[in-house]
Amino acid sequence: MSKEVRVRFAPSPTGPLHIGGVRTALYNYLFAKKHNGTFLIRIEDTDQTRFVPGAQEYIMESLRWAGIMPTEGPGLGGEYGPYVQSERQEMYKPYADLLIQNGHAYYAFDSSDELSSMRDNAKNAGMPNWQYNSITRSSMVNSLTLSSEEVQRRLDAGEPYVIRMKMPRNQDVRFEDLIRGWVVVNTNNLDDKVLFKSDGMPTYHLANIVDDHLMNISHVIRGEEWLPSAPLHILLYQAFEWEAPEFAHLPLLLRPDGNGKLSKRDGDRLGFPVFPLNWTTSEGELYSGYREAGYLPEAFINMLAFLGWNPGTPQELFNLDELTKAFSLERVSKSGAKFDADKTRWFQQQYLKALDNKTLGHELLAYYPTESEERLTKVAELMKERAVFVGDIVTEGDYLINKPTEYDEQTISKKWKDESPAIMKEWLNILSDIDDFTTVNVETAFKTYLENKGLGFGAAMPQFRLLLTGKGMGPGIFEIATFLGKTECISRMNAGLEVLK
Ligand code: GLU
Repeated sequence: MSKEVRVRFAPSPTGPLHIGGVRTALYNYLFAKKHNGTFLIRIEDTDQTRFVPGAQEYIMESLRWAGIMPTEGPGLGGEYGPYVQSERQEMYKPYADLLIQNGHAYYAFDSSDELSSMRDNAKNAGMPNWQYNSITRSSMVNSLTLSSEEVQRRLDAGEPYVIRMKMPRNQDVRFEDLIRGWVVVNTNNLDDKVLFKSDGMPTYHLANIVDDHLMNISHVIRGEEWLPSAPLHILLYQAFEWEAPEFAHLPLLLRPDGNGKLSKRDGDRLGFPVFPLNWTTSEGELYSGYREAGYLPEAFINMLAFLGWNPGTPQELFNLDELTKAFSLERVSKSGAKFDADKTRWFQQQYLKALDNKTLGHELLAYYPTESEERLTKVAELMKERAVFVGDIVTEGDYLINKPTEYDEQTISKKWKDESPAIMKEWLNILSDIDDFTTVNVETAFKTYLENKGLGFGAAMPQFRLLLTGKGMGPGIFEIATFLGKTECISRMNAGLEVLK
């Protein structure tokens, strides 16, 4: 790539960041890293009516948690700041003026009442999609229909206005999207978008183009929902006589059944998070996040990378460095990516399994603050294979730390026979006599006992497990026994025999 790569993630702080947004940030991050470029974040808050307090902090925190922090942005430094559009407000007006001067934009004074009555009239006449465009503008109140004196008078009098793009008539706009190939749109299908409002604020379109230019952005990598805006953006670059960046529009994230876009409500409805972190709305409604659900950031990122991209090989587990090496926009698909909740859990399980026991043991300290890290490391080792989340180790394997308080009903009805108490009492006596209480010794003693009695495993093993753990299943029972230690085993067996008789 000849040009210096500079890419940006440009979220609007209108609420929590959806995982689709995190994926956009991730692909930008990977693309920048891969090409030794720069990944920056710009906050697009020109629409103050949609501003949500806390959203910007949430976005930054999400990227930090996911491990994909930009190197330029609010609070991060960089030479192209400020990186929040409302702090750049005074920069945009001269550009809007420039477009008016060179004939690519014009003032429009139509009030919102006038505009809605225009829409209503058109609707009644059988045209439901009235637009302010190259045809209709000639019958509206703007600097193309008013005399220049009248325009000046209105401006001087401080009458509200907007500045609109003067969309050329019947012109094909073409650009080559790095994912979709050639895109051609005729300007007759485009309207005269508002670029600037008399409240002094640019709209998204103008601010976005001006900033991408001033921030020297080489590639715009963003969601498919912005594809319809791209022709306008291309025309704006032409109007300013600036070189346009390359464009890459990422596929949508779809619901698991492929039926429509994954929306913010789908997650909690279908039982998985669609946000990176928990978010509580001002009405007190909670949207759950991956972090709080117990996902490891590495698993979350790996899963997200595969929603719309694949490496072209069977390998599925990629850490961030590996993703950086393998990533390319050529391998991003055009069609929407279906979210797969099972696959997401699978990624999490793989990453939990790959965590070393010491790290996991340390995590478990949060649940068992008075336990030694050494013991918790052993708990991790015993339970890891059966867990998806760290919390599962606690729910599934709490008996490793705390005595069972109840005994699994199903195992009792299937396995606890009339003769079970007598067998367990005999085995308890033998167990109490084992001097060197190692896994091998306990197992050998157990097997010898069964052989001598002519019993099968089924007559004693589940019963032994039930007494020690209260459960019907779990990791190797002899390992559990030695983890608990002889005294604890004896005490649990006695207690269990009291309850089960
Ligand atoms: N502010 C837009 C958004 O919220 C950015 C679109 C773009 O990347 O150009 O997604």
